[in-house]
Amino acid sequence: ERSDRSEEQVSGAKVIAQALKTQNVEYMFGVVGIPVTEIAVAAQELGIRYIGMRNEQAACYAASAVGYLTGRPGVCLVVSGPGLIHALGGMANANMNCWPLIVIGGSSERSQETMGAFQEFPQVEACRLYSKFSARPSSIEAIPTVIEKVQYLITCSIYGRPGACYVDIPADFVTLQMNVNSIKYKECCMPPPVSMAETSAVCMAASVIRNARQPLLIIGKGAAYAHAEESIRKLVEQCKLPFLPTPMGKGVVPDNHPNCVSAARSRALQSADVIVLFGARLNWILHFGLPPRYQPDVKFIQVDICAEELGNNVRPAVTLLGDINAVTKQLLEQFDKTPWQYPPESKWWNTLREKMKDNEAASKELASKKSLPMNYYTVFYHVQEQLPRDCFVVSEGANTMDIGRTVLQNYLPRHRLDAGTFGTMGVGLGFAIAAALVAKDRNPGKRVICVEGDSAFGFSGMEVETICRYNLPIILLIVNNNGIYQGFDTDSWKEMLKCEDATTGAPPICLLPDSHYEQIMAAFGGKGYFVQTPEELQKSLRQTLEDTTKPSLINIMIEPQATRKAQVNIAKQKEGKASTP
Ligand code: ADP
Ligand code: MG
Repeated sequence: ERSDRSEEQVSGAKVIAQALKTQNVEYMFGVVGIPVTEIAVAAQELGIRYIGMRNEQAACYAASAVGYLTGRPGVCLVVSGPGLIHALGGMANANMNCWPLIVIGGSSERSQETMGAFQEFPQVEACRLYSKFSARPSSIEAIPTVIEKVQYLITCSIYGRPGACYVDIPADFVTLQMNVNSIKYKECCMPPPVSMAETSAVCMAASVIRNARQPLLIIGKGAAYAHAEESIRKLVEQCKLPFLPTPMGKGVVPDNHPNCVSAARSRALQSADVIVLFGARLNWILHFGLPPRYQPDVKFIQVDICAEELGNNVRPAVTLLGDINAVTKQLLEQFDKTPWQYPPESKWWNTLREKMKDNEAASKELASKKSLPMNYYTVFYHVQEQLPRDCFVVSEGANTMDIGRTVLQNYLPRHRLDAGTFGTMGVGLGFAIAAALVAKDRNPGKRVICVEGDSAFGFSGMEVETICRYNLPIILLIVNNNGIYQGFDTDSWKEMLKCEDATTGAPPICLLPDSHYEQIMAAFGGKGYFVQTPEELQKSLRQTLEDTTKPSLINIMIEPQATRKAQVNIAKQKEGKASTP
């Protein structure tokens, strides 16, 4: 028998879950506890995938990666006080990367506010610095509206840029029983409206490009997020322009495309006279757009959705405010009307090609070194040889990420996740978990390779248990040099400890030499490998790639003092003092 509809009661937890479901939220990551456990249970009952993580920070990284990969925000669910504080790292990272994210934080009961309640903390205020929207619904009846508003801010307010949003849910909201009929759910919000650049600015940009002597396109993760791969590729090929991806812009146009000049990055930046930026900010990643890394009179054409970004650090020649995909199509129209292509046999192309050949030869030489322990290049060349073309590459660590990026290729957009704009270490496992889930639901069979430095791995290492619990067939590679940037071998370590206590004598960059990280994976039922030679590496890679059912971890021992190949010191070279290749 069924009670009268008007009498039917529903808990706050269920209302919150239903509001998220109505907004098409697919994934929720978190760590449960008082007062949010019921929300996770209710969400799961409605078919939202709930992934319980071991630390809120990793949960938040995972939720934000879902936002970048799918264009719809993931949810991070955390408990009050410390739980929320742990999540701030993930919110900051998402906001810096311009990725959509929803964080839901339980908080102490309203009746105990300011009394020193359990885990009481000014959560809404705390989140303000790390988000674009932070609020607490005024009453439980207002929750659906607030949730819809968060979604609105993330997906529809792309007039601004995507970012993190916080909703605070006091404990008494979760347990409150309400009449079903008193709750009105909002319809799912519309996809973001598409904005286009001013026609006159588009004409001017096309003319600046046509008149360029040494043009360069820079493709950023904004272009990846905007799904602009098709139009940008068309522009590259139709106009025969050289392009350079930023770290996460890799794959928008495949890395092996003949027009990709990644291997001549410094030279391309330093000598270009016209640079078109597609969703890439002129921050530290691009050396602020300033000399000596660029020509003092280089003409920047900026394409971005965010008006405030235009003119940041440089005075651009042309600004194209709008959605990257739409604006690129506008540019293509110009080049369709009056066809033009950059001469493929120009001096600029020859310079770039020569430089690429030199640089590629230098890394190949390092990679072919037979000495043991292996260096970074040897490791990455072997990994690259076996990587499936369609895999997700997650990477973090200092040298591991920087060198890995130059060797490991991306062929598809939104398939590389790394420390990003904020340079955050510890993101890798959360990102890998998110990518594995998205792959499972949208592209079954696609692999996730997570290339970690040993130090970077340590930040979220316990998420290996999460990976095993959900049986996600992620391949974790730990490029182990026993330290941060560099480390020491066991003999030097023992020598150091002979004369000193480790707490006074061990260099701060040191981690314990020869740590068997693969045993962490084995502890939870995954497969662990400890490798020291190229042959062992090749074999373990082959085995992990063949086994699509299980997570695995390959602990790759490398030369503790290995570094990247000598870089050209541009400042010195300019003064005519040095030019090491
Ligand atoms: P990278 O780290 O790859 O250089 P950034 O994160 O610095 O990239 O820059 C990404 C830029 O892309 C941001 O300035 C953001 O405002 C912009 N952006 C994001 N989505 C869109 C879009 N759909 N259209 C245009 N610009 C976008
Ligand atoms: Mg290291």
